Amino acid sequence: MTVSWESPRLRVGFVMLHTSPLDVPGTKDAGGMNVVVRAQAEALARSGHTVRIFTRRADQESAPRVTLAPGLQVVHLDAGPARLLAKAEHEPVMVAFGAQLAAELERDPVDVLHAEHWFSGIAALPVARQQQIPLVQSFHSIAVAEESEQPGERPESPGRLAGERRLAREADLLIAVSAAERDTIIADLGGDPERVRVVPLGVDTELFRPCAKRECAERQDWFAHGGRAEVLAVGRLHPLKGFDLALDAVAQIPAEQRPALRIVGAPPPDGDEYARELHEQAARLGILATTAFEGALRRTDLAERIRRATLVLVPSHTETFGLVALEAAASGIPVIARAAGGLREAVLDEVTGLLVTEEDPAAWAAAITELLGDPERMAAMGAAARAHALTRSWSASAEELLTAYAGLLGAHSAA
Ligand code: UDP
Repeated sequence: MTVSWESPRLRVGFVMLHTSPLDVPGTKDAGGMNVVVRAQAEALARSGHTVRIFTRRADQESAPRVTLAPGLQVVHLDAGPARLLAKAEHEPVMVAFGAQLAAELERDPVDVLHAEHWFSGIAALPVARQQQIPLVQSFHSIAVAEESEQPGERPESPGRLAGERRLAREADLLIAVSAAERDTIIADLGGDPERVRVVPLGVDTELFRPCAKRECAERQDWFAHGGRAEVLAVGRLHPLKGFDLALDAVAQIPAEQRPALRIVGAPPPDGDEYARELHEQAARLGILATTAFEGALRRTDLAERIRRATLVLVPSHTETFGLVALEAAASGIPVIARAAGGLREAVLDEVTGLLVTEEDPAAWAAAITELLGDPERMAAMGAAARAHALTRSWSASAEELLTAYAGLLGAHSAA
């Protein structure tokens, strides 16, 4: 079977058990994975392929099928209680979800199954084998053992570490979003290098755009009249995102130069302890008056926030990629990010922003002060960042995905 980007009507089934493409990123457990799956699915559907995204029903109201665009449907499968579950509660519903998926695919088959995150992969693996459908796996994040010294997501339920290793060995193709993730899949999960492929992520450069002339003039006027610069940090309020480092760093900058700090994002469903700690920390540091916790923002509001910011900080302990860094680049805003995981690829050091290796708030404060004090360098970085982002469309990302599917389908039918 030959499949090319032009061949219409490849039937793709994305499996997304624990979070829905309809969830608003920044809320519940929705984040980068939701943005990526939705954008790639939309791009595939625009090119004439038929895409269904299978997710767990997490409320009573949603229709069984929701059409998002021509050729693109979200299918709600009944597995476990029809309410929002904490991430840790999904492992026991994997089997029921797999059974529903099998029944659905028997009625209406797909050519390829693409599982997102390990819950989905383990649920889909037996279905794929039984129905002889090739299985593609994307991890989005890979857990590290509780006792490990490495930064990273801890397994929130007991089967995760073994489940990820099993998928790395058994899925037909593993898709990584960065070279850093590919290396982890090979080194830590024992994935066969031949079956791991990097598919770079994209960014919507119309939604995330630099501010228009008038908006920019307003900003320059603001600074000319002594207005504070504004640094922004965006993400789910989870300790891995390192927002505490952003607070400490900003607090170290002398009051008269100190930028305002705006944190966008909501706590995950399994707890708001970190969010409370951040509020307490801001109070303790005496920077509450210049710190704003905005909660989650819709995509359009977030895009506006980003292009109005002076700088974006990504202090995450680890990221498989770090979409926010690319969204900031598309908005023409320089990024200061931790030199960790995929952020090393999302930010071009000294070109689209700065990568900071130290965890020391003083090093971060110095990097922030250095850039804020050099508007010309910031403008050059912003322009380079926008140019970089313009090379990363979601259509190009989906095209790479399709090439990967095509190779797999060719091998599968030959076998
Ligand atoms: N996001 C959003 N609204 C918010 C917070 C986050 O739309 O209030 C989006 C953000 O723009 C990005 C995604 O959620 O596209 C987060 O992806 P990232 O790779 O930065 O982190 P992850 O959630 O995968 O850990």
